[in-house]
Amino acid sequence: MRDTDPELSVVVPMYDEQEVVPMFFARMRPLLDGLGPSYELLVVDDGSRDATASLLLAAADDWPQLRLVRLLRNSGHQAALSAGFRRARGRYLVTIDADLQDPPEVIADMLTAARERDVDVVYGVRSDRSADTWVKRTTARLYYRLMCRLVGREIPFDAGDFRLVSRRVVDAVNALPEDGRVFRLVIPWLGFPSAEVKYARAERAAGATKYTVSKMFRLAFDSVTAFSAAPLRLATWLGLLGGLLSVGFGIGALVIKVSGQSIPGWTSTVLAVCVIGALQLLCLGLLGEYVARLFQSSQKRPKFLVGYDSLEDPGHQPLVR
Ligand code: UDP
Ligand code: MG
Repeated sequence: MRDTDPELSVVVPMYDEQEVVPMFFARMRPLLDGLGPSYELLVVDDGSRDATASLLLAAADDWPQLRLVRLLRNSGHQAALSAGFRRARGRYLVTIDADLQDPPEVIADMLTAARERDVDVVYGVRSDRSADTWVKRTTARLYYRLMCRLVGREIPFDAGDFRLVSRRVVDAVNALPEDGRVFRLVIPWLGFPSAEVKYARAERAAGATKYTVSKMFRLAFDSVTAFSAAPLRLATWLGLLGGLLSVGFGIGALVIKVSGQSIPGWTSTVLAVCVIGALQLLCLGLLGEYVARLFQSSQKRPKFLVGYDSLEDPGHQPLVR
């Protein structure tokens, strides 16, 4: 870190948010100015097609701490967050939505929690989801259940992408070469010491959700495939099952032949189809196993991360939890 780097980077992805931009800035600016530590507000414009870009440019005129990054095309919320992680300079980084569903005032609590409790991650956890629709609540619950299983680590329930992380976490995330990063899974997976701050999630201040159903499916799909080869393994099991079924079917065809009820040529055709079908399914399953292995090694996830080394940081007492 350089001396000119701010203490805090607030990263906000925005996609077609012209209705909320003025409200967001009106609430954010006094808060960040009054917070104390030096900051940058890094807005990642995710290829907006409405007036968002011009509103942002106008605001940056008399706000030196407002930093704008514009993606060439709409790349999705998680990709916009990735861009923010790569470009932010702060010692701490907070990610927050533009629509004021995450109250900016909570950032102060997050900073305090990070410093006082000496943790690297502070999750914003929704104390009350009544502002969300029933469908959203139910799908969210299913999602978190499944993800806890797949990631094999405690994933804070009802934590979205409103959270604070330290520079150590930012560097660790940026070092992951994988694509299609899902931050709410990757960050708990890294395993840094963490704390939670509860907050009431508000309604969207204006405009409509930018998470279309297809984007939600994309997120769910990325989440599953990033942490599990189970769908590919499924091919192996289906292959085995199909193999067994066709063996049974082949035996049946033979029995029919022996009992003399079959038309000439029928048994050999059925047997050939069964054998070829079974072999193909099994080979597909085998391919799936190799693809799964290749995929996992292409992610190049670190086998471990060092939290403390007494040689590098002799004065520091490691956290014991
Ligand atoms: N967003 C984005 N790119 C997209 C979709 C959403 O940058 O393709 C941003 C959006 O502007 C907002 C945040 O991601 O700041 C969360 O989106 P939204 O509030 O629409 O999602 P919801 O709260 O309905 O899940
Ligand atoms: Mg929202």
